[in-house]
Amino acid sequence: MHSPSAHSLLKDVFGYDQFRGKQEEIIDQVVAGENILAVMPTGAGKSLCFQVPGLIRDGLTIVISPLISLMQNQVAALRIAGVAAASLNSNNSFEDNRDIWRDMQTGALKFLYVSPEKLMTESMLSAMDNLNINLFAIDEAHCISQWGAAFRPEYEDLGQLHRRYPDVPIIALTATADQATRDQICEKIFSNQVTRYLTGFDRPNITLNVEIKNGWKKQILAFMKGRPKENGIVYCLSRKKTEEAAKALVDKGYHALAYHAGMSNQQREENLNRFMAEPDLIMVATIAFGMGIDKPDIRFVFHTDLPSSPEAYYQEIGRAGRDGNPAVAHMLYGMDDIRMRRMFIDNEKSDEGHKRRGHQRLNALLSFCEAPECRRVSLLHYFGDDPDYAKCGNCDLCDNPQETIEATEIGQKLVSAIYRTGQNFGVTHIIDILRGKVTDKVAQLSHDELPTFGVGQDLGINEWKAVARQLMARGFLLSDMEYGALKITGSGVQLLKGQESFRYRPDVILKSAAGSKSGR
Ligand code: ADP
Ligand code: ZN
Repeated sequence: MHSPSAHSLLKDVFGYDQFRGKQEEIIDQVVAGENILAVMPTGAGKSLCFQVPGLIRDGLTIVISPLISLMQNQVAALRIAGVAAASLNSNNSFEDNRDIWRDMQTGALKFLYVSPEKLMTESMLSAMDNLNINLFAIDEAHCISQWGAAFRPEYEDLGQLHRRYPDVPIIALTATADQATRDQICEKIFSNQVTRYLTGFDRPNITLNVEIKNGWKKQILAFMKGRPKENGIVYCLSRKKTEEAAKALVDKGYHALAYHAGMSNQQREENLNRFMAEPDLIMVATIAFGMGIDKPDIRFVFHTDLPSSPEAYYQEIGRAGRDGNPAVAHMLYGMDDIRMRRMFIDNEKSDEGHKRRGHQRLNALLSFCEAPECRRVSLLHYFGDDPDYAKCGNCDLCDNPQETIEATEIGQKLVSAIYRTGQNFGVTHIIDILRGKVTDKVAQLSHDELPTFGVGQDLGINEWKAVARQLMARGFLLSDMEYGALKITGSGVQLLKGQESFRYRPDVILKSAAGSKSGR
């Protein structure tokens, strides 16, 4: 349905001429009172999806957000646009809070930003019972999923909202949600009474490069050659390395600042403000930096170390090129990174399931690193997108194809073993079958009687693992995030029938990787 008032608000309040992607459709649905889950990439324009309906519908919109800095950015932007918005947060003075409460009561306030823990207090809830609430917007909704890396237990309470306020529509928004996380959001926040919107994850203006680490300082300086004046972010795993990298850049005449959780609040804030205000500045940061950064002309994101998951990687590189102009994501990784990440996961204070999923996510990221062909295709497959091209022409593997060998038959063997065992097993068991190893599990399930038993003795365990990861990178296989059982996709079935071909990239660093525990 065409909504002229949505259009006039877009123009008059936000100064834009056209809606992007699914914005208009989502806005119309929310205005009509529907519950929505919107999964859209960073920079796609999620905020307007609740801000415009909030303005159209009579009453107050409550926006739930996990971070004070995110709230403050959005409140500031709305106020500049002339919209009455405020956030309830622990930095507020007594007077601030008093004014906010008054404006809520009189109906002068249109948007209230609040953290989940502040919102779900009994005093806040009973106050809201007497207010005219027009919409709940739950930002960063993936925080509700204990499957995800960003789990925030306070988000779980938000499940009460739709029961307590059945007539108020809810929109949940996130940039990072795999299938399992999406399902959890729908169940917990909406009891599955919700329409899902999933928009394309492709960010075609971001060039994707991955390089094996061999002297990160040298590599970052080489990368910086030819970009004397650009805004960028360099992500490092440790605080110490952040300082070191910033120094290395400054020594070579680049304009670089460090940012990490070990610095004083004041210093961090100062560096952040400089980054937002000054041109041609490189922020060298740990992942403490970035949520809610909306600087449109960031030209590169450089990872000196492997991120924790495809979701983290995607979110971090998504800060580049929001203006739509060319930008580069360049990542380094090495064996040490992988060991370190495994160790982080194992040392987390979390249950076994969480750890298992952490390892699965890391495997998915490695499969992206080792992709035999187009990286973008591999990344998009992971997020459930099915790009309509086989090569993007804007990644290192498209520009510079790696040597690959014809391996359709090898791929078919692996897919066939998965097929014959009902798609219920992880990579270790499948490889045992292929290599003809009679483990207890193999014997118990009589998998030594399968026609695929022992047909893959010519490859080692780690080579088979690399084959499995590359089959995933090509979209022939998926790994379920709970137990790591390998599943065959539609194109995997075609590979099995000989209607698709597969090439293997033998140069991967993990081929000889030691310490392979089950399921990895
Ligand atoms: P997200 O929350 O999805 O990461 P934002 O809501 O912060 O994205 O929007 C990203 C940027 O795109 C912002 O600068 C926003 O003002 C801009 N934007 C959003 N919608 C439009 C539109 N329809 N036309 C032009 N710019 C838009
Ligand atoms: Zn490509």
